Amino acid sequence: MYFDAHNHLAAPSLAPHLPQILADLTAARVTHAVVNGTEESDWSAVAALCAAAAQPSPPFPQLSLLPSFGLHPWDVGNRSPAWLEALRTHLVSDPRAAVGEIGLDRWMLDRARPDDPRLAGLRRAPLDQQVTAFKTQLDLAVTLDRPATIHCIDAFGLLLETLRSVPLPPRGFLLHAYSGSVELVAPFAALGAYFSFNAAYLAPRHARLRELFKNIPLARLLIETDAPAMLAPNPHAPFSLPADPALNHPANLAASYAALAHLREIPLADFTATVAANSHRLFLGE
Ligand SMILES: [Zn+2]
Repeated sequence: MYFDAHNHLAAPSLAPHLPQILADLTAARVTHAVVNGTEESDWSAVAALCAAAAQPSPPFPQLSLLPSFGLHPWDVGNRSPAWLEALRTHLVSDPRAAVGEIGLDRWMLDRARPDDPRLAGLRRAPLDQQVTAFKTQLDLAVTLDRPATIHCIDAFGLLLETLRSVPLPPRGFLLHAYSGSVELVAPFAALGAYFSFNAAYLAPRHARLRELFKNIPLARLLIETDAPAMLAPNPHAPFSLPADPALNHPANLAASYAALAHLREIPLADFTATVAANSHRLFLGE
């Protein structure tokens, strides 16, 4: 029933909980998830998890996990000289694999607190280095005919300019947890963008983003959890990990569909079918 356009199911913080999570995903009728890698050291874990789910008799046969490999803008500063070859190898080894999570992030440079634990140990790459890594990976997506997933915070003008300057993946690309302006939706869509809604946007302070997601063309709308990141406010996060209550459980996906269907004033079954069709078009070329 439900397609998660963007999560990090292979994240080390979820590993101890994985058997329970996979059972919960099945119970919550999640049928597909795009599992993103963000740096060289996690690509193998993404590949292994998705390959296990694709075996002839996997433990959770209803669940299809699609791998996505990319160098996240937060991780550009820590890349090794071998990163691009390693990335290409992972992408070529699985024809279902997408490119991502890649992108541009000015927040990390201008607004993040120096002691933000999520950025601990990261060399924060300046924008010119982020743009170079981003374009290199977009080029790989074009060459291999794969969709791409893009992270962007506080750099939407630069993102649009960059996307207009290079060939783009023919199948399109996802602006995950989109937080740009409503005015930029049409120009991004004209380039092939899809936009994914995250239930963290149901927090009271995100009224602008809820309004924004009422105005995105239905044919370009996807839904994501970004789990274990972006925990939604109550009551939109019915699943939790008691040992780690700050983590977002990926089975909270169903609550996101219900919340956005309600915001868009569309019956849930119709809405879910439309988002499933959008998700299959972008990530499976169907
Ligand atoms: Zn992510």
